[in-house]
Amino acid sequence: MNGSEANPFIALGGTAGYILLVILLARQRGRWKDKPVFWLTIYLASSAVWELSLLRIPALEGILPNLSSKLLLVGTLLLGLSTAAFVEWANRRYWLLGGGAAILTTILLELFFPNPLFETPGFVIIKATLGGFATLITWLILSATLLVTTWRSYRGNPFPWHANRLLYWAVALFIILVSEAILFFNHPWLAPVGQILRLVGAIGLTYGVSSHRLFDVQGRIRRGLAFAIIVGISTGIAYTVFVATQWVAVALPPTINTALILMLIAAGYLLYEPFRRLVERVINPILLGEEFDTSKVVRSYSQAISRTLDVEQLSLVIIGTLSELFETNRGALLLATRLPEGYEIEPVPAMGRISRQKMSFAADSLLMATLAGERQPLLQYELDYNPQFQALTAEERTWLSEMGMEVYVPISTETEVAGVIALGPKISGLTYRQTELELVQTLADQTVVALENARLYSELGSQNEKIRLLNVDLRRQNERLEIMDKVKSDFITIASHELRTPLTQVKGYADILQAMNEENALNREQTREIVGHINRASLQLEQLISAMLDASQLDVHGLKLNFVPTKIDTILRLAVEPLAKAIRERRLAFKLEGIQNLPTLQADFKRLVQAFSNILGNAVKYTPDGGTITVTGTVIPSNDGEDYIEIVVSDTGIGIDPKFHELIFEKFFRIGDPQLHSTGSTKFKGAGPGLGLPIAKGVIEAHSGRIWVESDGEDESRLPGSRFHIILPLCPPGALLQQQPIPSLQAQPKQERPAWLIG
Ligand code: ADP
Repeated sequence: MNGSEANPFIALGGTAGYILLVILLARQRGRWKDKPVFWLTIYLASSAVWELSLLRIPALEGILPNLSSKLLLVGTLLLGLSTAAFVEWANRRYWLLGGGAAILTTILLELFFPNPLFETPGFVIIKATLGGFATLITWLILSATLLVTTWRSYRGNPFPWHANRLLYWAVALFIILVSEAILFFNHPWLAPVGQILRLVGAIGLTYGVSSHRLFDVQGRIRRGLAFAIIVGISTGIAYTVFVATQWVAVALPPTINTALILMLIAAGYLLYEPFRRLVERVINPILLGEEFDTSKVVRSYSQAISRTLDVEQLSLVIIGTLSELFETNRGALLLATRLPEGYEIEPVPAMGRISRQKMSFAADSLLMATLAGERQPLLQYELDYNPQFQALTAEERTWLSEMGMEVYVPISTETEVAGVIALGPKISGLTYRQTELELVQTLADQTVVALENARLYSELGSQNEKIRLLNVDLRRQNERLEIMDKVKSDFITIASHELRTPLTQVKGYADILQAMNEENALNREQTREIVGHINRASLQLEQLISAMLDASQLDVHGLKLNFVPTKIDTILRLAVEPLAKAIRERRLAFKLEGIQNLPTLQADFKRLVQAFSNILGNAVKYTPDGGTITVTGTVIPSNDGEDYIEIVVSDTGIGIDPKFHELIFEKFFRIGDPQLHSTGSTKFKGAGPGLGLPIAKGVIEAHSGRIWVESDGEDESRLPGSRFHIILPLCPPGALLQQQPIPSLQAQPKQERPAWLIG
């Protein structure tokens, strides 16, 4: 376009038109932040310049061949940016970079190769330079990309009103691009038509970004089409009959002729209307969807919901009826509960994958206030694009978009919203018509009583369920209390057994010592042996008493810990040391996995050794000869930067019945016969006083850690084994107060068997 054919009046008029649109957009203050508005304004301004360039201004002509077409290209680029923002493309940057580079290339080609390659054909307006060709190709590619992407976004959007917005934009784009295509031809009439059409398209786009209430493009096209088809068929047939009569009339005498014409007029008068309605009845459902008998729908709906006494069931009935009418495959009943601080909405899904996640809306929330105030259906499209709903919070928006609904219809009582019928988009992709929305609102109004009844009924059901669960819990607590009661009485038996055994030994050996001494039969060797026995028995007594003291400390004021940087590796080595002999004798395999790589943690070294001694001691005791004990360590990173380590002590022993998984951590609880007394710390199934695990648990919990056991059950033949899980924080809260150096191994008191080791 070099402007040779441009009508100066039209060009000036166009310029004025574009400037007017710029002013219109600029007047909508505050909308400049809106990207589509911003880019469209610049596009319109560039279009005004482009219109001016169509006038033959010699000074401009000389600067660059094909100047106006270059401006047109810049316009397409800006149009793309506005479209990208409107359609929400993810990769807008590529458009700007690719388009900008292409336009620059065409300008450079024009500057460096200004001579036409051949004589420009008469029907095109663009000069046949290298840059001219590049301009044409760039325009084609940019325009096609714009149209295709917008069209694909439209096709990919399942929500009819959202899609309608994109279709509207695509149609306006199409008008502009067709008008620009027209402008490439050299024809006195085509140029003004192209210019006017382009302005019409620009007006369409301006309206598109300024108002969220766009008309239903597809609906209008369908209605227009239906009207054209109905009128076409009806008048076509009427015309045929008319022509046929004229043809027959030529051959007939005038009297019969007149009678025939009168008869035909009468028949036409009587039959035209019914015939037209028949055509309508065939065409309308195909193009506009089925009509329905409102009163019949309301009647059958009321009957169906009055028979429903459960919220879930009610949701299914409501959405089932509506989905049958409107053919949607998504819907839910949203229960609204009025709380002092606002509303709590709980979705009861009926069709489609819908989350049951509850959502709280503030008392003055725009969504609930609108539903309660207007008592009218609210479209998701309005929530997304009506500036009135701009104040919705991000959380509310996310929840709503995850619901994936097309329309929300309030079920309102006198004073508030009791629920909302949420309906997904129609499968056909058509919008909900006004009459359909009115029908849904009527049905929602019918639902109030049924909903209240169903909620009361469900409330009753859930109260019953709560009572049932409480009963189960009570039974469990009862069982536990029974066991604890038994533990209490067992405690006397265990404690007296445990204390009596070493005491009897001390007393027995002391008696022997005395008797032999009186008879003067004692030699040095015998004395050493007897005193050795007395010492061992009193050591056992001492250990037992210190364990009891530890256990009682757990109850009174918890354990006092001395936190130091500690390695689990060292702790395990010290804990297993006293068990080494038993492990060897009983041919147990002891494996450590991943322990070396564990980081240093802040812990009470001595107490952790005590805890692991007890756990490992149990693993040794309850694993038959030849079994395996494995200790694995892993680091568990956490999001808040507070890392943990997990240590799992697994054995291939007799296992533990799941019903005792919690009880074994209770003081003096032990599975089996309480009459058995401590039979040694390492013998297979050697009974202990039932204090090892409670102390281990107390130590680990004092470190802000956790301990629990997993086992499939107790079975001496199958040997399911047990897995004790211990989680410890790398830096427990209490450790921050104390920081002390790592105690060296040599610094530990040298003892054959540590005093804190139980069982
Ligand atoms: P005890 O001094 O009796 O070993 P604990 O508190 O250490 O007391 O353990 C309580 C009970 O838990 C034990 O009597 C035993 O029945 C059971 N138990 C503990 N560890 C294991 C294990 N690794 N395998 C099987 N049973 C175990």
